[in-house]
Amino acid sequence: MRHGNESLKAGHIENSISKKIALAYDLQSRYSKTLLQDEKIKNLLFQLDKNIEVTWKEMEFIGVVKECNDCALNGGGSCCGAGMEKNYDSILLFINLMLGKTLPPDSYDPNSCYFLSGQGCVLMARQVICVNYLCQRICKNIQQEKLIRLQKIAGEELKTLFLLEEYIKKKIRLTQKIYKT
Ligand code: SF4
Repeated sequence: MRHGNESLKAGHIENSISKKIALAYDLQSRYSKTLLQDEKIKNLLFQLDKNIEVTWKEMEFIGVVKECNDCALNGGGSCCGAGMEKNYDSILLFINLMLGKTLPPDSYDPNSCYFLSGQGCVLMARQVICVNYLCQRICKNIQQEKLIRLQKIAGEELKTLFLLEEYIKKKIRLTQKIYKT
């Protein structure tokens, strides 16, 4: 994978996930240092980190993680199907870089989402569809009131992420073209 301006000029990668990842690394190299000095961004990143941890703890506590692991091993496989990565834009990928994650240079499995590794999703900040999705098996095996509580907790994560995304867009004043990638 190429990073930086070289990638931006490379026509052959068009609107692919490779281009979005290249843009995310480009944003990191150009804006990360400045943005990380902004108190509001620092607070939102800290809050998001905490919110994500709380969501995962609740998923573990009520048995969602166990159901997903069991399904991946013995059931219908992962619901992180090929093409799911299309829901991600360069700003959200950039936020993952700011949270200390690394974006993979290639997909692990062409039949799955680009971001699904052998250890699960490589991303920390994720789209609503990845955070909130509850399959039929989970809805059947876990009490409804527990799932409602989980969605409330996940809502806090998504709210913080939304505020952070909007603030970053405002701060770096990206062109409309980049926002749409
Ligand atoms: S949770 Fe991660 S691996 Fe699964 S679909 Fe979402 S981004 Fe892809």
